[in-house]
Amino acid sequence: MKTIEEPIDLHFRGDEKIIALYLVKGDEPALVDCGPSTCLPALRAGLAARGLAVSDLRHLLLTHIHFDHAGAAGVLVRENPELTVHVSAIGLPHLADPARLEASARRVWGDLFDDYWGELAPIPEANLRVAEGSALGLEVVPTPGHARHHVSYLDDEGRCYIGDAAGVRIVPGRFIVPHAPAPDIDVEGWNASLDAIEERRPTALYLPHFGRVDEPEEHVAALRENIARWAERVRGGATEEEFVRAGQQELERESEPEMLRSYAEAAPLAQSFHGFTRYWSRRETSAAPSA
Ligand SMILES: [Zn+2]
Repeated sequence: MKTIEEPIDLHFRGDEKIIALYLVKGDEPALVDCGPSTCLPALRAGLAARGLAVSDLRHLLLTHIHFDHAGAAGVLVRENPELTVHVSAIGLPHLADPARLEASARRVWGDLFDDYWGELAPIPEANLRVAEGSALGLEVVPTPGHARHHVSYLDDEGRCYIGDAAGVRIVPGRFIVPHAPAPDIDVEGWNASLDAIEERRPTALYLPHFGRVDEPEEHVAALRENIARWAERVRGGATEEEFVRAGQQELERESEPEMLRSYAEAAPLAQSFHGFTRYWSRRETSAAPSA
């Protein structure tokens, strides 16, 4: 199995370095994540530049079902019925029947939904596989925390397709945003997932947002600190405005100005405020004595 190191840039909303896909090119070409339907022209162009078409793909290894990772999966399967989609057991029913997911997302996104994400097509059960144990020779590691339905993939040479469990770092930017959208954020779960990744001693992390990180230990250590600090900021009573301002200052201090736009698109800071707020309120509810 040979990985193409250079990711396919989906040019999300016309900008560079927001969503990366990694091609695992072996006997059966596979993609890690596929992005949203709005990026299909860029996906096709990226495949063509590597001598492939959608019809050549045989597997999608999905890290999780957020639309920026999995939105186009159903459209791709409709176009290429030989495609097998690997996804966590928790995520699978939502890909088989995305109607409820779409309805609730449309309530949040309103008119912007179609601009950002585009069509979500259902995937026939026959094309879906639960990602557990191993997939195409890669180890599947459950990595909840950013989302309940998150898994990461590791190959036997130590490449880790870590997904959003890595946070958001627009390489060569240095700062790692602990991107924490509602509703699933689970700080303890996220740290346990990072433990699971570290135990496997990956040689490199392949980030969907965006690029390859060659010093996994430093990355994970910094991410843990940032998760803790940002979660604590919300628990300490920061308003959304204060939270966003503090995060923006950290980002601007530690990242090159030309990367800031990609950071903003890939990980809007207000989303993390809402995700951490939800996390703490859930903790309070579960800690409250039952009546
Ligand atoms: Zn995500």
